[in-house]
Parts: sequence; structure tokens; C-alpha cells
Amino acid sequence: MAQAPPVRSASLPVQIPLREILPWAVFALVIGMLLFYFVGVEQGATSLFGGSFIHEFTHDGRHLLGFPCH
Ligand SMILES: [Zn+2]
Repeated sequence: MAQAPPVRSASLPVQIPLREILPWAVFALVIGMLLFYFVGVEQGATSLFGGSFIHEFTHDGRHLLGFPCH
């Protein structure tokens, strides 16, 4: 007489505590805000760095994302 296959228990999703996620979430937020600043705002009166290198470097991305430019 053949035995029935063993019943598999349903796999549970891994629970990650908020305490472990929070530093990475803050880090991602800071990096995202820096990228947002350099791609979208770093130009003209709000420019942190002199010259137009950063503006020109991120220029295509700025137009791609629909930021007002010129
Ligand atoms: Zn432009």
C-alpha cells in the first residue's frame, strides 16, 4: 500500500522587524533626495556648485523626467 505524500506546510513570508528596515529606509530616502536635487533643482540661483557641469551632466535626465529646464 502506497503512502500518501507528506503534507507540506505553507511557507510563511520572512518577517523583517521595522528596527532593521528603518536605517536602510532613511539611507535610501537621503540618497533619493540627493539624486532628486541634483537632477531636478541644481541650477541657477539654487546651485550649490559653480559652473554648469552638474547641470549639463544631468540635463538629459532632467528632460526625461519632465523637470522644467529651458
Ligand atoms: Zn534643458
